[in-house]
Amino acid sequence: MLNRNLVRFALVFGTAAFLLMTVSQNDTTRVSAFSETNPLLQKWEGPYGGIPPFDKVKVADFKPALEAGMAENLTEVEKIATNPSAPTFENTIAAMEKTGSTLDRVTTIYSIWGGNMATPDYQTVQREMAPKLAAFGDKISQNEALFKRIEAVYNSPDKNKLTAEQQRLTWLYYTNFVRAGARLQAEQKTRLSAINQELAKHFTTFGQNLLGEENGQWVVLKDEADLAGLSQSLKDAAAEAASSKKVAGSAGIVMNTRSSVDPFLTYSDRRDLREKVWKMFVNRGDNGDKADNNATIAQILQLRAERAKLLGFPTHAHWRLENAMAKTPERAMELMEAVWPAAIARVGEEVADMQALANKEGAKITIEPWDYRYYAEKVRKAKYDLDQNEVKQYLQLEKIRDAMFYVAGEIFNFTFTPVTNVPVFHPDVTVWEVKDKTTGKHVGLWYFDPYARDGKRSGAWMNAYRNQERMDADIKTIVSNNSNFIKGKPGEAVLISWDDATTMFHEFGHALHGLSSNVTYPTLSGTAVSRDYVEFPSQLLEHWLSTPEVLQKYAVHYQTGKPIPQTLVDKIAKAATFNEGFDTTEYLASALVDMKLHLAGDQKIDPDKFERETLAALNMPKELVMRHRTPQFGHAFSSDGYSAGYYSYLWSDVITADAFGAFVEGKGPYDKAVGAKLVKNIFSVGNTIDPADAYRTFRGRDPKVEALMKKRGFPVSKK
Ligand SMILES: [Zn+2]
Repeated sequence: MLNRNLVRFALVFGTAAFLLMTVSQNDTTRVSAFSETNPLLQKWEGPYGGIPPFDKVKVADFKPALEAGMAENLTEVEKIATNPSAPTFENTIAAMEKTGSTLDRVTTIYSIWGGNMATPDYQTVQREMAPKLAAFGDKISQNEALFKRIEAVYNSPDKNKLTAEQQRLTWLYYTNFVRAGARLQAEQKTRLSAINQELAKHFTTFGQNLLGEENGQWVVLKDEADLAGLSQSLKDAAAEAASSKKVAGSAGIVMNTRSSVDPFLTYSDRRDLREKVWKMFVNRGDNGDKADNNATIAQILQLRAERAKLLGFPTHAHWRLENAMAKTPERAMELMEAVWPAAIARVGEEVADMQALANKEGAKITIEPWDYRYYAEKVRKAKYDLDQNEVKQYLQLEKIRDAMFYVAGEIFNFTFTPVTNVPVFHPDVTVWEVKDKTTGKHVGLWYFDPYARDGKRSGAWMNAYRNQERMDADIKTIVSNNSNFIKGKPGEAVLISWDDATTMFHEFGHALHGLSSNVTYPTLSGTAVSRDYVEFPSQLLEHWLSTPEVLQKYAVHYQTGKPIPQTLVDKIAKAATFNEGFDTTEYLASALVDMKLHLAGDQKIDPDKFERETLAALNMPKELVMRHRTPQFGHAFSSDGYSAGYYSYLWSDVITADAFGAFVEGKGPYDKAVGAKLVKNIFSVGNTIDPADAYRTFRGRDPKVEALMKKRGFPVSKK
């Protein structure tokens, strides 16, 4: 997953304009008095062209800083809109690129707090500011004089004299203003803005409800008997969690987060507790209480459908996909439906294997969803003799991080050096300077925040704190990777699963996408590409985890230091597509429901019922659930972000699998020539060219789906 810069995204992508209201004149004058003392409003100082002042952030400063930033930005934009000179690229589009730098810095830190340190006082600010930010975005995208100027530059015959990057930027501004309602009548604009503010409130409610349930619910493991089947490191993590939540007199707790729940479901011998934990997890946001998200979702869907109609699209999905690589929901559906039958057929085989094993053990059970991970693990052991716990002993968090640095050195020619002279928002965060290996030149900074904590949202993501650009000066990027590993005892190596190591490489792929950026304009920088393309660089990087170069040197035993034995590596390779039925089906079920919810138009939707009926129509196997059930589907409902866009992971993975083929057909994963081509055509170009064109330049043709089917171990259809 990846976080985008709130404001830049808002202005240019139209979509997040919908994340983003009005600052009353009174407020503005009142807050300007703060600007001298509010550290959030100051230019970033210190080394590396300035760094975020995390050591000076106080939650109380957010509101006045956001308001002052918005006011400043509106003044800057108004100056462009009312410029008496005839509109040109420089005095309109390039000028727009230079606006909002204060607000950019403020919202960057504001959203970092939202993801990592969402304390109750922060959440109060968030509830108040979300609709205001939404209205602010609309104020810009609905500025008629400004749009007329953008339109004039877009339609001018002089456009052809601009560089390709400038032409693309002009197109993007024009399209996104149109997509955000610039051509609507005044009355429609007012309604659109009201919808966006309403949505922003609902997104905040949705996210806060979810966070509340993840941080506030757990299952208590009373005594040693409740720990049956768990490894020592899982027992320690459960005990740590209990002490952090001050649950006295227990052997530990299972938190209501994926990183606590999944391992428990995989290893706990206690079927009764597995059921309890599973039910807690899949019912997040769906408990009929104050934190129930169903009514919020129904309202979000209605508002999105109304907005799409207002903007001239049949549904929210059509509006969302217009600028994506897929272009239409039909094309995205076509891909998902092509893969679905193979995925559920594989689930059938997996369940049969698990049932047979359970019968052989005399378990006298029928496989239920809370048994899937547990018996899958047993089958994995029996069939492939592969024990995830054994693998884990070779996967230390810090060594995997070093392995990522190694790959970045080989393919991207980067070096990573720790720096200690910059402030961080939590002592767990480390900072690294990235340089070019050959020239020693500064490339950017990478912040790494690996551990779970209260107020931090679950999952793993990448964020850009500053985008690379060189409009006026050579600005270097600052990026971060964040995840939720459970911190073990002090001084002990944190052992992670193969899946977790894969996720680390994935997020690092986003970071490298940001770090490789080599563009002129900030809006086109780094990861600012279409949603269904942005997961391609990250998913591609996952492939390097299993290369012998990485495994031999970095997958070393946490006690003996010996590299992972080849026999174990062979087993991992052999089991690579194991449980792919489960993985693809739980993902695709979410992606299909997301798309269908947003293709349903403005009919009134009961999310629970819709989910049930849609899954039944798809013949969803009863032994598993969606990876993200609707009431907890943050991708779709905590912002517009991945709404009608969860398919993107599959879309991108088609490209990924096909792209890795270029290395396989070459000299292998470390083929320097292919690597250089990859950086030049994909990682460094940001959104300066159409992604389909960029890919064709890299690969010599369009991506084909066959490589994906093969990668997942599914039969390749002869169509
Ligand atoms: Zn991602």
